[in-house]
Amino acid sequence: MIDLQIRGRGIHDSRVLAAMERVHRHEFVAAELASSAYEDCPLPIGSGQTISQPYMVALMSELLALQGDERVLEIGTGSGYQTAILAQLCREVYSVERIPRLAVAAQEHLQRCGYENTRVYTGDGTIGLAEFQPYDRIIVTAGAPALPQTLADQLNPGGRLVIPIGDRFLQKLMVVEKHGPEIVQQEVCGCVFVPLLGKEGWKVYNE
Ligand code: SAM
Repeated sequence: MIDLQIRGRGIHDSRVLAAMERVHRHEFVAAELASSAYEDCPLPIGSGQTISQPYMVALMSELLALQGDERVLEIGTGSGYQTAILAQLCREVYSVERIPRLAVAAQEHLQRCGYENTRVYTGDGTIGLAEFQPYDRIIVTAGAPALPQTLADQLNPGGRLVIPIGDRFLQKLMVVEKHGPEIVQQEVCGCVFVPLLGKEGWKVYNE
């Protein structure tokens, strides 16, 4: 998977490549999906959600430009796979998941695997996690209609945020940088994520 789907598609950060080698994706999906775990596609994790495509996990991790000492906020824990990759690349990961069942399962799994620099919280990640702000990096792994202002506010000056922005079915992966009070956004590529639901995301219809 690493050579063909990750390095072969242009991911060069050696720390990201090493983290992708170390974290076994089949451990983050149901046993009946384990044989598909190294295909480069999202897979269902229950509650209508997915574990992200490995290439997208690697790309978003590389775009964060982590050096190792950062505090990172992740919105959309899902299975915890991206969280486990981030845990190898930075000092601390604070991850927020809105579906309690997924948050609890991911937290338990990450603890069992020994990722002690990760903490998972249940809640609406569109309003960030005020308790531990500001963050050096923020990663959003669900598609937003626009940049949530609260997340921009919780980003350290000089910090970087990676987020898919677009409509409910198709987004553009954006890198957002905070230079003093100024916010600079750069488009990277097209992408498809499940919707970011919540106060500063898409409206929740069925709850
Ligand atoms: N990166 C994850 C992984 O590796 O398994 C997959 C993330 S999945 C594509 C997107 C996740 O975002 C879903 O689990 C969904 O419940 C969550 N989500 C959507 N809106 C959210 C919100 N407002 N706050 C926190 N999580 C949210």
